[in-house]
Amino acid sequence: MFDSLSDKLERAFKVLKGQGQVTEINIAETVKEIRRALLDADVSYKVAKQFTDTVKEKALGQNVINAVSPNQLMVKITHDELAKLMGGGMADINISGNPAVILISGLQGSGKTTFSGKLANYLKTKKGKSPLLVAGDVYRPAAIDQLHVLGEQVGVEVWSDKENKNPVDIAKQAVIHAKSKGHNVVIIDTAGRLAIDEQMMNEIEQVKKAVNPQETLFVVDSMTGQDAVNTAKAFNDKLDFDGVVLTKLDGDTRGGAALSIRTVVDKPIKFVGTGEKMEALDIFYPERMADRILGMGDVVSLVERAQEQYDEEEARKLQKKIAKNQFDFNDFMSQIAQIKKMGNVKDLMGMIPGVGKAMKDVDIDDDAFKGIEAIIQSMTPYERENPKSLTGSRRKRIAGGSGTSIQEVNRLIKQFDQTSKMMRMMGDKKKMAQMMKNMP
Ligand code: GDP
Repeated sequence: MFDSLSDKLERAFKVLKGQGQVTEINIAETVKEIRRALLDADVSYKVAKQFTDTVKEKALGQNVINAVSPNQLMVKITHDELAKLMGGGMADINISGNPAVILISGLQGSGKTTFSGKLANYLKTKKGKSPLLVAGDVYRPAAIDQLHVLGEQVGVEVWSDKENKNPVDIAKQAVIHAKSKGHNVVIIDTAGRLAIDEQMMNEIEQVKKAVNPQETLFVVDSMTGQDAVNTAKAFNDKLDFDGVVLTKLDGDTRGGAALSIRTVVDKPIKFVGTGEKMEALDIFYPERMADRILGMGDVVSLVERAQEQYDEEEARKLQKKIAKNQFDFNDFMSQIAQIKKMGNVKDLMGMIPGVGKAMKDVDIDDDAFKGIEAIIQSMTPYERENPKSLTGSRRKRIAGGSGTSIQEVNRLIKQFDQTSKMMRMMGDKKKMAQMMKNMP
């Protein structure tokens, strides 16, 4: 699903690989690539432009957390904006009311009848409802037969009347029937045309007025890209529907419809169809879809955790100390505590300024800090604040106190020195940029 879009976005982020910081220039380049990826996925120009403008603004406005690389930050921002673009949170279908009436609209061939069957199956098996399916297509007898076949498959009663050519009448009769038989949901499949058609629109509008549905859904074939968006707009102007169903997402769809519809009609996507089988129906979760499109869930959660742990006040204090060359073992210790709070140490080693790199030779597992912590704890408060005071005899005492060896103490002090040096450099933007350039 959306493979080509995923590949292109990944390529866009590569622009930032190895870059030390976010700049107007490297962001502009990345954003250009992202926009191209979206346009290639058949997202409308307006939506793509709006999207990339927001991403750019967010990226430049971010107080870049040292722990996160510009590349990672960009993945995270893009992920969040993609989710927002598709609607943010999940939007549930309204099935309150007895019976709850659900009206299904859309063009012919969009997958309305298939979806009606799937929805009946979903409400029956997952929500414990007793649905009634209604064949509202009075023009195509084959469509009525198709619904009967699906109804049988999922074990749901189907209401139809081949003699009656009035869809409003059929819908009303069906609701009366549902009440008498104790069906608590009525799903009305309607007639579609190959293209937007005034008569069809008026007809479904009248059905809507007559049965006053809790939920009007608009079904659209996601393979039709920007056309899907135009059709959605026409239907929404007429019906003011409640939600969108995107079908055929299992096919070779580029993603344009999924990404643009929300912006254009301001209605949530509620379900997606992912196959011809009755079970091939998914509730639409924008966040999960964004995860799938980017395929970089790890990076996203990594940045999230760093953002959660990032204490701006602390960071500012630390910056000041670093600038004044006052970084001491207490700071070193609190940096380690931060790493530990974040969880899996191996993943997170690179995230904390200095510490990760300084300890890259250490074989890291979750106990890796035990020795280090023991050593620092065996220092006196004076020693912790004054690393230069650690003479040979003090080191020996510390090794004894912490149950480690003098070599281990020496190694830690060396690491600490490297870290402080590194951190002073990080305070100096020019030097930092130079260093980043030299990195592989
Ligand atoms: P309607 O004219 O809007 O009622 O459309 P149908 O329900 O008859 O669907 C048209 C065609 O699309 C049928 O061949 C369905 O099997 C197929 N179809 C519907 N939904 C999906 C889907 O989610 N994935 C795939 N691959 N095919 C689908």
